Amino acid sequence: MDERIKRLVKTSKTIKDMLNAVALEVQENCAHEECYECEYEESKFHGRAKPPCRICLECRLIEEGWGCGYKLLENSNILKTIDRYELYRMRIPGKAGQHRKN
Ligand SMILES: [Zn+2]
Repeated sequence: MDERIKRLVKTSKTIKDMLNAVALEVQENCAHEECYECEYEESKFHGRAKPPCRICLECRLIEEGWGCGYKLLENSNILKTIDRYELYRMRIPGKAGQHRKN
């Protein structure tokens, strides 16, 4: 493989690992004061229904709100309801941006 590509692939992995570590630490210590919410979506055609979700505006933690409901973002102040795809665009890339399921 070209040396420059090899170096950039390695650097890219390092940055992803750093982003994940910092994001998880911030999420762990965040008060989750304000969030946006997207609503439950009924199943269409043969697809699955999609759960309601909240995303913290500070740390970008995402939590699904069904099953036993919200836990981490339960008391977060919902500033507005947004489209599911708008919420997806706010995600942190990688592991820290995945939904927390309860
Ligand atoms: Zn938060």
